Amino acid sequence: MIQDITPEQFSVAYDLRAPKSGDTICLFHGSRILGVRCAEGELRLPRFCELPVQETDCWFLFSISGRDYFWCRRGLAPAGGDYNWISLRRSMVFAPQHEAFAALTARHLATWYDDNRYCGRCGRGLVRDAEERALLCPECGNLIYPRINPVIIVGVVDGERLLVTKYAPSHAAAKYFALVAGFCEIGETAEDTVRREVWEEVGLRVKHIRYYGSQPWGIDGNLSLGFFADLDGSDTIHLEKDELSQALWLHRRDLPPRGDTMALTSDMMEAFRTGQI
Ligand SMILES: [Zn+2]
Repeated sequence: MIQDITPEQFSVAYDLRAPKSGDTICLFHGSRILGVRCAEGELRLPRFCELPVQETDCWFLFSISGRDYFWCRRGLAPAGGDYNWISLRRSMVFAPQHEAFAALTARHLATWYDDNRYCGRCGRGLVRDAEERALLCPECGNLIYPRINPVIIVGVVDGERLLVTKYAPSHAAAKYFALVAGFCEIGETAEDTVRREVWEEVGLRVKHIRYYGSQPWGIDGNLSLGFFADLDGSDTIHLEKDELSQALWLHRRDLPPRGDTMALTSDMMEAFRTGQI
Protein backbone atom coordinates (compact mmCIF):
# COMPACT_ATOMS: atom_id res chain seq x y z
CA MET A 1 0.00 0.00 0.00
CA ILE A 2 1.04 3.58 -0.52
CA GLN A 3 2.21 4.08 3.07
CA ASP A 4 4.48 1.00 2.90
CA ILE A 5 7.68 2.87 2.09
CA THR A 6 10.26 0.68 3.87
CA PRO A 7 13.25 1.13 4.09
CA GLU A 8 12.25 4.82 4.14
CA GLN A 9 11.05 6.04 7.55
CA PHE A 10 8.14 8.47 7.91
CA SER A 11 8.28 10.78 10.94
CA VAL A 12 5.51 13.21 11.83
CA ALA A 13 7.49 14.73 14.74
CA TYR A 14 6.51 18.40 15.02
CA ASP A 15 8.76 21.40 14.60
CA LEU A 16 8.59 25.06 13.50
CA ARG A 17 11.83 25.02 11.50
CA ALA A 18 12.34 26.95 8.27
CA PRO A 19 13.10 25.29 4.91
CA LYS A 20 16.63 24.80 3.61
CA SER A 21 17.43 24.95 -0.09
CA GLY A 22 17.15 21.21 -0.76
CA ASP A 23 13.97 20.62 1.27
CA THR A 24 10.85 19.40 -0.49
CA ILE A 25 7.94 21.79 -1.04
CA CYS A 26 4.30 20.76 -1.40
CA LEU A 27 2.48 23.54 -3.23
CA PHE A 28 -1.22 23.11 -4.02
CA HIS A 29 -3.47 24.78 -6.55
CA GLY A 30 -7.03 23.70 -5.89
CA SER A 31 -6.99 19.90 -5.90
CA ARG A 32 -3.65 19.70 -7.70
CA ILE A 33 -0.05 19.62 -6.48
CA LEU A 34 3.06 20.92 -8.21
CA GLY A 35 5.35 18.26 -9.64
CA VAL A 36 8.63 18.39 -11.56
CA ARG A 37 9.37 16.18 -14.55
CA CYS A 38 12.89 14.73 -14.14
CA ALA A 39 15.25 14.03 -17.01
CA GLU A 40 14.40 10.32 -16.65
CA GLY A 41 10.72 11.17 -17.20
CA GLU A 42 9.64 10.54 -13.63
CA LEU A 43 7.66 13.02 -11.57
CA ARG A 44 8.97 14.29 -8.23
CA LEU A 45 8.07 17.06 -5.81
CA PRO A 46 9.98 20.38 -6.17
CA ARG A 47 12.75 21.63 -3.86
CA PHE A 48 12.70 24.95 -2.01
CA CYS A 49 15.60 26.36 -4.05
CA GLU A 50 13.68 25.75 -7.30
CA LEU A 51 10.60 27.80 -6.45
CA PRO A 52 9.95 31.56 -6.26
CA VAL A 53 8.39 31.27 -2.79
CA GLN A 54 8.92 32.98 0.57
CA GLU A 55 10.55 31.11 3.44
CA THR A 56 7.90 32.44 5.86
CA ASP A 57 5.14 30.91 3.71
CA CYS A 58 6.62 27.41 4.09
CA TRP A 59 5.44 25.44 7.13
CA PHE A 60 7.19 22.25 8.17
CA LEU A 61 5.01 19.13 7.81
CA PHE A 62 7.03 15.92 8.36
CA SER A 63 10.19 14.16 7.38
CA ILE A 64 10.96 10.94 5.53
CA SER A 65 14.33 9.36 6.36
CA GLY A 66 15.64 12.74 7.49
CA ARG A 67 14.45 14.66 4.41
CA ASP A 68 12.11 17.52 5.36
CA TYR A 69 8.79 18.28 3.65
CA PHE A 70 7.08 21.68 3.83
CA TRP A 71 3.71 23.06 2.81
CA CYS A 72 3.95 26.33 0.93
CA ARG A 73 0.85 28.36 1.78
CA ARG A 74 1.05 30.54 -1.32
CA GLY A 75 3.23 30.59 -4.38
CA LEU A 76 3.40 30.23 -8.12
CA ALA A 77 4.89 27.56 -10.33
CA PRO A 78 8.13 28.67 -12.01
CA ALA A 79 7.93 29.37 -15.72
CA GLY A 80 9.16 26.48 -17.82
CA GLY A 81 8.01 23.17 -19.15
CA ASP A 82 9.32 20.90 -16.38
CA TYR A 83 6.66 21.93 -13.83
CA ASN A 84 3.19 20.40 -13.89
CA TRP A 85 0.10 20.68 -11.71
CA ILE A 86 -0.81 17.08 -10.91
CA SER A 87 -4.28 15.96 -9.84
CA LEU A 88 -4.09 14.46 -6.36
CA ARG A 89 -6.06 11.50 -7.70
CA ARG A 90 -3.04 10.93 -9.96
CA SER A 91 -0.42 11.79 -7.35
CA MET A 92 0.54 8.12 -7.09
CA VAL A 93 2.50 8.71 -10.30
CA PHE A 94 5.17 10.45 -8.22
CA ALA A 95 8.34 8.43 -7.89
CA PRO A 96 9.75 6.96 -5.78
CA GLN A 97 6.70 5.77 -3.84
CA HIS A 98 7.48 7.75 -0.68
CA GLU A 99 7.03 10.94 -2.74
CA ALA A 100 3.51 9.81 -3.64
CA PHE A 101 2.78 9.07 0.01
CA ALA A 102 4.23 12.46 0.95
CA ALA A 103 1.94 14.24 -1.54
CA LEU A 104 -1.19 12.64 -0.04
CA THR A 105 -0.10 13.23 3.53
CA ALA A 106 0.86 16.83 2.83
CA ARG A 107 -2.61 17.36 1.41
CA HIS A 108 -4.21 16.16 4.63
CA LEU A 109 -2.17 18.53 6.78
CA ALA A 110 -2.46 21.46 4.36
CA THR A 111 -6.25 21.10 4.21
CA TRP A 112 -6.42 21.05 8.00
CA TYR A 113 -4.27 24.18 8.28
CA ASP A 114 -6.24 25.90 5.52
CA ASP A 115 -9.63 25.07 7.05
CA ASN A 116 -8.64 26.31 10.50
CA ARG A 117 -7.49 29.89 10.07
CA TYR A 118 -9.84 31.33 12.70
CA CYS A 119 -10.99 30.29 16.13
CA GLY A 120 -14.46 28.74 16.04
CA ARG A 121 -15.17 30.07 19.55
CA CYS A 122 -14.14 33.72 19.38
CA GLY A 123 -13.24 34.36 15.73
CA ARG A 124 -9.62 35.47 16.24
CA GLY A 125 -6.88 34.32 13.84
CA LEU A 126 -5.12 31.11 14.93
CA VAL A 127 -1.35 30.67 15.20
CA ARG A 128 0.77 27.52 15.18
CA ASP A 129 1.47 26.20 18.65
CA ALA A 130 5.14 26.20 19.62
CA GLU A 131 5.17 22.76 21.25
CA GLU A 132 2.89 20.38 19.39
CA ARG A 133 0.93 19.96 16.16
CA ALA A 134 -1.96 22.19 17.08
CA LEU A 135 -3.36 25.62 16.25
CA LEU A 136 -3.72 28.03 19.15
CA CYS A 137 -6.09 30.94 19.63
CA PRO A 138 -4.05 33.71 21.30
CA GLU A 139 -7.28 35.32 22.53
CA CYS A 140 -9.17 32.50 24.28
CA GLY A 141 -6.58 29.71 24.41
CA ASN A 142 -8.60 27.31 22.23
CA LEU A 143 -6.30 24.54 20.95
CA ILE A 144 -7.27 22.77 17.72
CA TYR A 145 -5.66 19.45 16.86
CA PRO A 146 -5.54 17.80 13.42
CA ARG A 147 -8.77 16.08 12.49
CA ILE A 148 -8.79 12.58 11.01
CA ASN A 149 -12.00 10.99 9.78
CA PRO A 150 -12.32 7.24 10.40
CA VAL A 151 -13.78 5.32 7.47
CA ILE A 152 -14.51 1.61 7.33
CA ILE A 153 -14.00 -0.62 4.28
CA VAL A 154 -15.49 -4.10 4.50
CA GLY A 155 -15.11 -7.18 2.36
CA VAL A 156 -18.28 -9.24 2.86
CA VAL A 157 -17.44 -12.92 2.35
CA ASP A 158 -19.73 -15.86 1.60
CA GLY A 159 -17.48 -18.91 1.27
CA GLU A 160 -15.54 -18.44 -1.96
CA ARG A 161 -17.51 -15.34 -2.95
CA LEU A 162 -16.79 -11.67 -2.20
CA LEU A 163 -19.35 -8.89 -2.38
CA VAL A 164 -18.11 -6.16 -4.72
CA THR A 165 -19.73 -2.85 -5.57
CA LYS A 166 -19.46 -0.04 -8.08
CA TYR A 167 -20.07 3.57 -7.15
CA ALA A 168 -22.63 5.74 -8.92
CA PRO A 169 -21.30 7.32 -12.17
CA SER A 170 -20.64 10.68 -10.47
CA HIS A 171 -17.98 9.14 -8.20
CA ALA A 172 -14.27 9.49 -9.09
CA ALA A 173 -13.71 5.72 -8.83
CA ALA A 174 -16.99 4.68 -10.52
CA LYS A 175 -15.42 2.40 -13.12
CA TYR A 176 -13.62 0.13 -10.64
CA PHE A 177 -14.95 -2.60 -8.40
CA ALA A 178 -14.94 -1.49 -4.79
CA LEU A 179 -16.04 -2.74 -1.38
CA VAL A 180 -18.71 -1.45 0.95
CA ALA A 181 -17.34 1.62 2.73
CA GLY A 182 -18.49 4.54 4.81
CA PHE A 183 -17.71 7.07 7.53
CA CYS A 184 -17.94 6.22 11.19
CA GLU A 185 -20.69 8.23 12.86
CA ILE A 186 -20.30 9.79 16.30
CA GLY A 187 -21.18 7.20 18.94
CA GLU A 188 -20.36 4.16 16.78
CA THR A 189 -17.59 1.62 17.09
CA ALA A 190 -15.91 0.71 13.80
CA GLU A 191 -17.73 -2.65 13.98
CA ASP A 192 -21.07 -0.83 14.39
CA THR A 193 -20.25 1.14 11.25
CA VAL A 194 -19.45 -2.08 9.37
CA ARG A 195 -22.85 -3.55 10.27
CA ARG A 196 -24.73 -0.31 9.49
CA GLU A 197 -23.03 0.41 6.17
CA VAL A 198 -23.48 -3.16 4.89
CA TRP A 199 -27.16 -3.00 5.83
CA GLU A 200 -27.69 0.47 4.34
CA GLU A 201 -25.77 -0.08 1.10
CA VAL A 202 -26.68 -3.64 0.16
CA GLY A 203 -29.32 -4.81 2.68
CA LEU A 204 -27.23 -7.70 4.08
CA ARG A 205 -26.36 -8.82 7.62
CA VAL A 206 -22.81 -9.77 8.63
CA LYS A 207 -21.09 -11.64 11.46
CA HIS A 208 -17.51 -12.54 12.50
CA ILE A 209 -16.17 -9.07 11.74
CA ARG A 210 -12.36 -9.20 11.75
CA TYR A 211 -9.78 -6.46 11.35
CA TYR A 212 -7.55 -6.54 8.27
CA GLY A 213 -5.47 -3.34 8.30
CA SER A 214 -5.57 0.42 8.01
CA GLN A 215 -4.42 3.19 5.72
CA PRO A 216 -4.01 6.95 6.08
CA TRP A 217 -5.70 8.49 3.04
CA GLY A 218 -4.77 12.12 2.98
CA ILE A 219 -6.65 13.19 -0.17
CA ASP A 220 -9.86 12.99 1.81
CA GLY A 221 -8.43 13.41 5.33
CA ASN A 222 -9.40 9.85 6.24
CA LEU A 223 -8.01 6.93 8.14
CA SER A 224 -9.42 3.86 6.39
CA LEU A 225 -10.01 0.80 8.59
CA GLY A 226 -10.31 -2.46 6.64
CA PHE A 227 -12.38 -5.42 7.82
CA PHE A 228 -13.60 -8.71 6.46
CA ALA A 229 -16.92 -10.11 7.65
CA ASP A 230 -19.00 -13.20 6.90
CA LEU A 231 -22.48 -13.06 5.43
CA ASP A 232 -25.13 -13.78 8.05
CA GLY A 233 -28.37 -15.06 6.53
CA SER A 234 -29.81 -14.24 3.11
CA ASP A 235 -27.47 -13.33 0.24
CA THR A 236 -30.12 -11.31 -1.61
CA ILE A 237 -28.77 -7.82 -2.33
CA HIS A 238 -30.94 -4.72 -1.94
CA LEU A 239 -28.93 -1.94 -3.54
CA GLU A 240 -28.81 1.60 -2.19
CA LYS A 241 -29.01 3.33 -5.55
CA ASP A 242 -28.09 6.89 -4.55
CA GLU A 243 -24.53 5.85 -3.77
CA LEU A 244 -23.95 2.66 -5.74
CA SER A 245 -24.66 1.61 -9.31
CA GLN A 246 -23.98 -2.08 -8.80
CA ALA A 247 -23.34 -4.74 -6.16
CA LEU A 248 -22.76 -8.40 -6.90
CA TRP A 249 -21.20 -11.58 -5.57
CA LEU A 250 -18.01 -12.60 -7.39
CA HIS A 251 -16.25 -15.93 -6.99
CA ARG A 252 -12.61 -15.68 -6.00
CA ARG A 253 -11.50 -16.90 -9.44
CA ASP A 254 -13.64 -14.29 -11.24
CA LEU A 255 -12.23 -11.25 -9.44
CA PRO A 256 -10.19 -9.14 -11.87
CA PRO A 257 -6.53 -8.72 -10.80
CA ARG A 258 -5.76 -5.25 -9.50
CA GLY A 259 -3.11 -3.31 -11.42
CA ASP A 260 -1.71 -1.95 -8.17
CA THR A 261 -2.43 -2.32 -4.48
CA MET A 262 -1.66 1.25 -3.40
CA ALA A 263 -5.13 1.68 -1.90
CA LEU A 264 -6.50 -0.44 0.95
CA THR A 265 -9.55 -1.50 -1.09
CA SER A 266 -7.32 -2.86 -3.85
CA ASP A 267 -5.06 -4.58 -1.35
CA MET A 268 -8.02 -6.29 0.34
CA MET A 269 -9.54 -7.44 -2.95
CA GLU A 270 -6.21 -8.79 -4.12
CA ALA A 271 -5.70 -10.60 -0.78
CA PHE A 272 -9.05 -12.33 -1.25
CA ARG A 273 -8.45 -13.09 -4.93
CA THR A 274 -5.11 -14.75 -4.21
CA GLY A 275 -6.48 -16.85 -1.33
CA GLN A 276 -4.79 -15.01 1.55
CA ILE A 277 -8.22 -14.43 3.12
ZN1 LIG B 1 -10.56 31.91 20.42
